[in-house]
Amino acid sequence: MRRILIVAAVVLLAVAPPSAQHVIPTQSGDIVITGGQLFDGVRDTIVANTGLLIRNGVLLEVGASLANRDVSAARVVRLAADETILPGFFDLHAHYAIDLFGEERVDEYTINPIIFLANGITSTFPGGEVDPEGMMGARRRIERGEQVGPRILSSGPYFGTARPGWRNADWTADRIREEVDTWAARGARGFKAKGISRDHLPVLIERAHRHGLTVTAHLDSGSGSSVNPRDAIFMGIDRIEHFMGGDAIVPTRGAYASLEALDVTRPEVDNIIKLYLQRNVYYDATVTAYGYWYDPKDMRVFKTWMDEQSFLTPHAREVANSRLPRRPNEQFKRIYEVKLREVKRFYDAGGGRLITVGTDHPSWGEFLSGFGSHREVQALVLAGIPPAAVLKMATINGARAMGLSSQLGSIEAGKLADLFIVRGNPIQDITNTRNVRLVMSRGVLYDAAELIASAKGKMGPATTVDDDWWKGRLRFR
Ligand SMILES: [Zn+2]
Repeated sequence: MRRILIVAAVVLLAVAPPSAQHVIPTQSGDIVITGGQLFDGVRDTIVANTGLLIRNGVLLEVGASLANRDVSAARVVRLAADETILPGFFDLHAHYAIDLFGEERVDEYTINPIIFLANGITSTFPGGEVDPEGMMGARRRIERGEQVGPRILSSGPYFGTARPGWRNADWTADRIREEVDTWAARGARGFKAKGISRDHLPVLIERAHRHGLTVTAHLDSGSGSSVNPRDAIFMGIDRIEHFMGGDAIVPTRGAYASLEALDVTRPEVDNIIKLYLQRNVYYDATVTAYGYWYDPKDMRVFKTWMDEQSFLTPHAREVANSRLPRRPNEQFKRIYEVKLREVKRFYDAGGGRLITVGTDHPSWGEFLSGFGSHREVQALVLAGIPPAAVLKMATINGARAMGLSSQLGSIEAGKLADLFIVRGNPIQDITNTRNVRLVMSRGVLYDAAELIASAKGKMGPATTVDDDWWKGRLRFR
């Protein structure tokens, strides 16, 4: 009898027309996006977009059936057949500064956020904050809707010698714990260590985890008091940036000296990859950060598709151009090439779910941070990783690495409405991610061209860096 009832219920559900089940009436303030294609960050394919219904910043319906449905109360956005909706990108190593080739460095929290958002980057983890108070101020203004920009997943100040004025001897374990507690209370979403010692890192990790926050780090070979990423993984670190570490990165010299000559088929490389997989440690390869230091004009990823210098103030542009072209860094050329092979090896070993996109793009007045994610995803495709996997690295992997995947990183009903719409199919050609037409952040829809137009000519110091407007914001490294 019981079995018959269950079967009857299943049959009833199966035959009920979908429209009769639960049609949510649209209301004023809703946005409906119809047409075009959808990469949802869950599947590896692009599918037709039947409809998205967004209300109060949330994706209420995905794959909605809009036929015979009254959507007149909503704002309806119709996409062209060749347009693609993507989850908003995560840049997990986003710099909010402009540094005119080492001169006149200023933190820049007004135009940088607009440029990130105009590029479809809706979440950023600043990979180390020189001015954490200023950064927090920008984040709060964006959250209150007083300023346009992506989500800022604050990292707070650097832990380690990258923090201006940091001296290891000044930092007891208790002081590190207090600092973690302070910044967790202020809203940090994770921590960044750079130049940290082997005594300090375990304390930072343990305390951050107590707050449910992750730790990422730019580490070294293990020489002196530095930490090899392998040892940091044993300490429980969550994410690693720039290079994977392991026994092929020997402590008798700096990490880059080993990295530039690294044969990625060595067993030490496979061993460290295995460790990442066993411990679920995320890896941010920052491939283009090295390519950029070499000779950007030589490489496909550095082909410009927009005049990035046009965002600079005339003064900043003049200072930048007086220092161009830069002298190429031969070591970074070799590292760039090693890294393309290294990240592919990591992917082939099953690490696709652990690779995240972080740009570490310096805004030196030549290329700007907000454009970096498109270069990085292209580099990952050039490394040999399938475009759909790379798109997940830039979206859902970033959300997962930050502990936010229940809310962000994919286009699924119930998640927050952070997405962008590009012309073309990025699985057929990854450079289509650059052709941003619309961006939605927290359910608010922006026209990318309008964001771009609003940011032109405003980035960087207007006259000199001690100009009134910049006073108090200057932070030199
Ligand atoms: Zn960085």
